[in-house]
Amino acid sequence: MTFKILNFAAIMTEELKELKDLLILPKEIAIISHRNPDGDAIGSSLGLAGYLKNKHHNVNVVFPSEYSSTYEFVRGIQQSTIFDLEPDKARKIIDRADLIFCLDFSGLDRIDKLGENVKFSKAKKVVIDHHLDPEPFPDILISDIEASSTCEMIFQVIDQLGDRGKIDRYIGESLFMGIITDTGSFKYHTRPQTYETAAILKGIGVDDYGLNNKIYNAQKERHLRLLGHCLANRMEILQDYGAGIMWLSKKDYQDFDIQRGDTEGIVNYMLMIEKVKIAALILEQPTIVKISLRSKDDVSVQEIAQKHFNGGGHKNAAGGGVYASLKDVINRLKRVIPEHLPKVN
Ligand code: 5GP
Ligand code: MN
Repeated sequence: MTFKILNFAAIMTEELKELKDLLILPKEIAIISHRNPDGDAIGSSLGLAGYLKNKHHNVNVVFPSEYSSTYEFVRGIQQSTIFDLEPDKARKIIDRADLIFCLDFSGLDRIDKLGENVKFSKAKKVVIDHHLDPEPFPDILISDIEASSTCEMIFQVIDQLGDRGKIDRYIGESLFMGIITDTGSFKYHTRPQTYETAAILKGIGVDDYGLNNKIYNAQKERHLRLLGHCLANRMEILQDYGAGIMWLSKKDYQDFDIQRGDTEGIVNYMLMIEKVKIAALILEQPTIVKISLRSKDDVSVQEIAQKHFNGGGHKNAAGGGVYASLKDVINRLKRVIPEHLPKVN
């Protein structure tokens, strides 16, 4: 079955021409994505790695911190290097690369200490990302804030390079995964190309039903108990502003044996309330208090994350982290919300 892509820009941009030239001869390539890698970070990194390996490059994938056990099934993930676990190996991979791809982030603060290695590396740096306000550090910046996900962009980059035929089922599954996770299974931030990409990947043999089951229907009992606790005991709705706040304390982390990735997705439940336009999940982690923000329609949480919580992200999904007490962060958010949301009543 063949598909004709209707809406992809048919013109090869300068950036893609430059990238094409860089990939002519086999290279030592490092691919790096952001800390706490999500489905899009992992899918884009492993999908691009698979493609570049098919083109006979030597490729290593590095993540600053560990990934959630949900993603253990992804082919090739066991070969990736995690800076927090093997810092020297991760640094060496970056230092000896001739070409570094930075995927699904565009600010070096999102890769912790590896930011220095990337910044001072002599390698050519390529960023492929869909976040707002990319930093100008790369040699080649491929940025598309309209894209559903970095995975959608990786598909389009490979396609524009004339290599759609090099996308096998496993690369396709990695890329499909990031599209699913960044759009909440096609619920938000989609555009025609998102569905076209998905259609082509399914045509290649991607088992989308199986992928959805592996990602969303593979939870442990304790995940649902934690969700119940959040909804029953840790949710406050600011009726006057249409905002929902949830928080988890260090004690909650102990009581519910919360592991990396266990809190993913919980913030979205508050958006199920019709009135709620902004949802926030505040997490008291060992040294930092993390905040995850989500919004509906035209309300931007990116601004809130950037201005008040040292973070950033997208209009409808952003996050950040501050060194303060849980109580202070909750109070800061409550102070800030009226500046961003008009009173409803
Ligand atoms: P999450 O709430 O799932 O952790 O993050 C949602 C989105 O917010 C991410 O895709 C990312 O774009 C952004 N984000 C989360 N944490 C940070 C942060 O600490 N700094 C920046 N710049 N963006 C963040
Ligand atoms: Mn993404």
